[in-house]
Amino acid sequence: MKQLVFDLLTRFRGVILLCLLPVGYLFDAVMRLRNFYYERWGAAPEQHGLRVAEIQRQVRRWYAQPAETRRPMCTDRRTWQNLSTRFEPKHEWHKIRMSGLRDVLGVDLERGTVRVEPFVTVGSVTRYLLPRGHMLQVTLEIEDATIGGLAMAVGMTTHSHKVGLLYETVVAYEVVVADGSLLRVTRDEHPELFHALPWSHGTLGLLVSLELKIMPVKPFVHLRYIPVHTQQQYCDQLRELSVAADAPDFLEATVYAKDHAVIMTGDFADAPTAPADRRKINPLGRWYKPWFFKHVETFLWKDGESEEYVPLRHYLMRHNRSIFWVVQHMISFGNHPVFRWLLGWLMPPRIQFIKFSTTPAVREMTFTKQVFQDIVLPMSAMSRAIDASHRLFEMYPVLLYPSRIYDHGPLQGQLRAPREQDRVPGTDFGMYFDLGVYGVPLPILHGKPFKTVHAMRKMEDFTREVGGYPFLYADTFMTREEFGQMFNLDLYEKVRAQYGADQAFPHLYDKIKPEVDVFAVLAREASEPD
Ligand SMILES: Cc1cc2nc3c(=O)[nH]c(=O)nc-3n(C[C@H](O)[C@H](O)[C@H](O)COP(=O)(O)OP(=O)(O)OC[C@H]3O[C@@H](n4cnc5c(N)ncnc54)[C@H](O)[C@@H]3O)c2cc1C
Repeated sequence: MKQLVFDLLTRFRGVILLCLLPVGYLFDAVMRLRNFYYERWGAAPEQHGLRVAEIQRQVRRWYAQPAETRRPMCTDRRTWQNLSTRFEPKHEWHKIRMSGLRDVLGVDLERGTVRVEPFVTVGSVTRYLLPRGHMLQVTLEIEDATIGGLAMAVGMTTHSHKVGLLYETVVAYEVVVADGSLLRVTRDEHPELFHALPWSHGTLGLLVSLELKIMPVKPFVHLRYIPVHTQQQYCDQLRELSVAADAPDFLEATVYAKDHAVIMTGDFADAPTAPADRRKINPLGRWYKPWFFKHVETFLWKDGESEEYVPLRHYLMRHNRSIFWVVQHMISFGNHPVFRWLLGWLMPPRIQFIKFSTTPAVREMTFTKQVFQDIVLPMSAMSRAIDASHRLFEMYPVLLYPSRIYDHGPLQGQLRAPREQDRVPGTDFGMYFDLGVYGVPLPILHGKPFKTVHAMRKMEDFTREVGGYPFLYADTFMTREEFGQMFNLDLYEKVRAQYGADQAFPHLYDKIKPEVDVFAVLAREASEPD
């Protein structure tokens, strides 16, 4: 019976996703209502203390059990609710009830900080901050991503060439550690833990709140679209723009073919007043508008630069309706004007609902027939990375945007200090970039045999060789040893022992390795003809 249900879910997935659109929309509406209620009438700050005390009580109870009966702890956020492509085996771990930590706790405009509980989403904090004239310094383009999830993982956006990854903007974490103690963790208090928490994926403690830097905003982003027609030129131009003294507030490029890209620079702007500029206002997030990457493509073959004024909220969530270009492989007609005008307001399908309807067969299919990767790589390797991605996957579009990676000296966390050739002279950071590759490799689209895991492992070899790192929300294909060569786990292991996390939480490698047996798939691929 179970198998029959799985078969039906697999066969009719497209239809199911379409049917889930309204459910996702309703769910979203309920969440918005809930946020609205909390912002207006919720007694969040007082309840936060009580909620944290309850989490400490659960952890202390766990701690009091005999060591041999204790299973590693994790949060009770359901695996289908997060944005990772993996399904963590939470049923094997001890879940701590804490997913009610979803409130914005307060903002301090003078200090330029906001304090949030970890499961506050990007959409929610952005709705809270924009009317107050501010936004997070690192505001991801996906509404459903949580601030705690980003802080424990990566958090990299098109403003990161100015501020670095999200964790560089964290002023303080509040963490419940293995014995149930509540710690305030800052650069000065528990500095080693502070620097090991990013990229730790909840394997050092349970995050119960965090305080982050915010920045003042203007109502519009003045967006320039620059078509470029050689790989060398768009790589050079991105590098120069990212380190320029007058670097734009936002910077990214969408690569449509190896030699063809559109670079986008964005700067905060007031509402345009001149009639010629007012005609350039584009609220591109409206339901009937083309998907952003399709809109950008229209500038590829225009002569010279084009410009638009995009309302800030529309800019921030520009990739949201098509989840970059992921949705095109699920709802192929989603960008058709008729669909957009009639049903575009239901988009995007919530990632949670997509995961919820993922059967083992669908997961196996996405694992072996699709690629979802964001990879942080040094700028010096940009053209080689595009060559490697082209050679291995031949998939477009590809996303590029720069980010600082800082050198924290002896307190360097899981990312190694930038190599000499990647450092920006006279600074304590190197300039890196995100290579976002999402979709179906061209050989698979053409019905040719393709060894996805082999290709992914080659990409990982390249990443390791040039000193880069894949985001760990996506599937990894490394052995434990290879993982240890790529990431610097020295501080991490030290902190794990120091705070008792080695006895209380899964190891990072075990937490982020795919639940699918990568090496069995690798062996199967090896036995298949090329
Ligand atoms: C198509 C696509 C494109 C993406 N592009 C980008 C991008 O450009 N930049 C970027 O930064 N990210 C990007 N992401 C990744 C996304 O930001 C991550 O999935 C991120 O981790 C946030 O997701 P989440 O809120 O579901 O976190 P989760 O997956 O829930 O959390 C991340 C990790 O932290 C742990 N954790 C979460 N909360 C706590 C807590 N309170 N205490 C202890 N541990 C905790 C979780 O167990 C998990 O291991 C992209 C994702 C997709 C699907």
